[in-house]
Amino acid sequence: MDLAPAFAEALDIFVRYLQIDTSNPPGNEKPAARFLGSLLEREGIACEYIETQPNREVLVARLTGDGSKRPIMLCNHTDVVPVEEQYWDMPAFEGIVRDGRVYGRGAVDMKGCGVMQLMAFLLLHRNRVPLARDVVFCAVPDEEAGSTWGMKWLCDNRPDICDVEFELSEGGGGADRFAGEDVKLFNIATNEKTICWLQLTAVGTPGHGSRIHHDNSLVHLMRALLRLEDWDRGITFTPDTTAYIDRLAEAGLIPPRSEKDALEAQIARGGELQAAFMNTLNITEFRSGIKTNVVPAKSWAAIDCRLLPGQDPHDWLRQVREVVADDRITVDFYRRGEVEPAAVPWDTELFHTIRAVLTEAMEDAVVVPSMTIGATDNRFLRARGIPAYGFIPCLMSGAERAGFHGNNEFLTIDNLNMGVELMYEIVRRIAS
Ligand SMILES: [Zn+2]
Repeated sequence: MDLAPAFAEALDIFVRYLQIDTSNPPGNEKPAARFLGSLLEREGIACEYIETQPNREVLVARLTGDGSKRPIMLCNHTDVVPVEEQYWDMPAFEGIVRDGRVYGRGAVDMKGCGVMQLMAFLLLHRNRVPLARDVVFCAVPDEEAGSTWGMKWLCDNRPDICDVEFELSEGGGGADRFAGEDVKLFNIATNEKTICWLQLTAVGTPGHGSRIHHDNSLVHLMRALLRLEDWDRGITFTPDTTAYIDRLAEAGLIPPRSEKDALEAQIARGGELQAAFMNTLNITEFRSGIKTNVVPAKSWAAIDCRLLPGQDPHDWLRQVREVVADDRITVDFYRRGEVEPAAVPWDTELFHTIRAVLTEAMEDAVVVPSMTIGATDNRFLRARGIPAYGFIPCLMSGAERAGFHGNNEFLTIDNLNMGVELMYEIVRRIAS
């Protein structure tokens, strides 16, 4: 099958899709849902638009199978995180194509994958591929702000749509480097960490900024935050990460668990790998003070904590309080994950289909089950027991992966093409 026309079409769609500003907040994803829907409707595919909030819609379309297998959902979110335009070298909502790259907010997170899924869906339709199972295309709003008006809403209000055997969305994918080596490493995420944001409130005695003062709430808070920042939490192995390590070790990319010191040293070098082996903690918000000559009575900070699967949030809160160790400071939950993260099996027809497609396309591909260190919509489906996998089928560089919530976000045209080709082949095999 000659995919060149599909690649050209995907690029055209991608550029126009990136031009729709769906920064969330506020989202305003309806034009994005309507844009994707118009591409399906003009080929005779019925679309359902479900309004969850004014100007915010879920798009659902379905290719019907013979019913011998249960449906698979291709799910992507239409919203993007806001942009700090002053740090970008180009406009973020114009879909600029330059040097083989397509720039724009959402290029990797996750409008590019949305286009891969859309093209796979259209090609199945055009090629009249006989389907054993329904293929559901689902584009949802509000992923970047907690999914209240997106996937969470859909699971709560339209469980009929979410009643599928498998789902594919973001949260994993290919990396072209690992631990300093050139690789073709494909992570298929079967689990993810959970949000456990905490807030710290320090209370002191207010007073005049001209006096000697020993009970400044801001000083108490800063000392506590530095203790948290310096807290060595070591490395924690969970059942998910153990499976991940074992497969990386089989591929020779990491020392085996029997070489504990060497393995821990490699993990401790930092980055995404280290975040998969510890509860992370980042101080992200801070408020204090009303005037330069007033010692603040109260100071507040928020920390973004992400817990490994199976960690008890109350136990984590207790540990943080112990490190803070200051009774002038209260530590409480600020926001917690809406659902408990649930691991889903990786030893499934979908996992093996993905692995077969990848290893046939690239004989040196390494395919491993993994865990997403951020949060994705997959958690809502996993909570329903559905093997919902995070997988964008292309091979991103470090620079491309830095685009997730970063500046100058881009996807290469090569990766867009690879994604269209592999997504089509994966979905064709699992659905036919
Ligand atoms: Zn995303």
